[in-house]
Amino acid sequence: MRKQIAAANWKMNLTIEEAEQLMNEILEAKIFLEPQQQAVFAVPFPYLINIKNKIGEQPNFFVAAQNCASEKSGAYTGETSAQMINSININYVLIGHSERREYYNETNEILTKKINLALANNLNPIFCCGESLKIREGNSQNEFVQNQLKESLFHLAAGEINKIIIAYEPIWAIGTGLTASSLQAQEMHAHIRKVLVDKYGEEISKTISILYGGSVKAANALEIFSQPDVDGGLVGGASLNAQEFITIIKSLKKINCPIN
Ligand code: PEP
Repeated sequence: MRKQIAAANWKMNLTIEEAEQLMNEILEAKIFLEPQQQAVFAVPFPYLINIKNKIGEQPNFFVAAQNCASEKSGAYTGETSAQMINSININYVLIGHSERREYYNETNEILTKKINLALANNLNPIFCCGESLKIREGNSQNEFVQNQLKESLFHLAAGEINKIIIAYEPIWAIGTGLTASSLQAQEMHAHIRKVLVDKYGEEISKTISILYGGSVKAANALEIFSQPDVDGGLVGGASLNAQEFITIIKSLKKINCPIN
């Protein structure tokens, strides 16, 4: 069974006091997830160790870096390597978030390098993809997303692709309050799954988790996560509010219940 994940992306928000307070509130809810379910917190670099320590032994809770360098090591002032992230026992890294692609010119080619370094250093990449409003209006979102996957991931062998988590995040829905309808999310997730099947076959593709991101909140998480090809979400704004994110994590637990 593939993993179902509620992933928080705190972006460049919160002081350390605020971050610890938020994490305390979430941990106080004592959410015990099913074995195949996870809550992942992509926190700013300076807080990785603090938040990892705070989570401690809470089962199925993990910490992620929000980025890693595209080079292995050396004279790259200000960068943080995949090896460094692994050396502090962090298990996940976001790669290719649309804000990185847009503001830091991260191309599919650069992201390929990051993916390779993440995997070489035992990090599970959460690979973000998704189209702009213009591309959606031109109805070429399927080809666009397929190309993002092809150019950054399809060099991977079958034994590597199953370490990738894909996050489909339509750019027009990120931080805008506009959410793709659950039908739109399902359509794209089914398309991504089909693209994976064509390249890697049915068996491998059905083990790859595909998360939806774009204005997920407590009020819509369960409906979106209940779609057959949606395996959870990557959540920005709503992950900064403890009660919102607690409800989002708990939505994972309700997905498999016959009556929600
Ligand atoms: C994100 O940043 O990955 C995201 C989905 O943000 P938001 O939930 O705020 O739209």
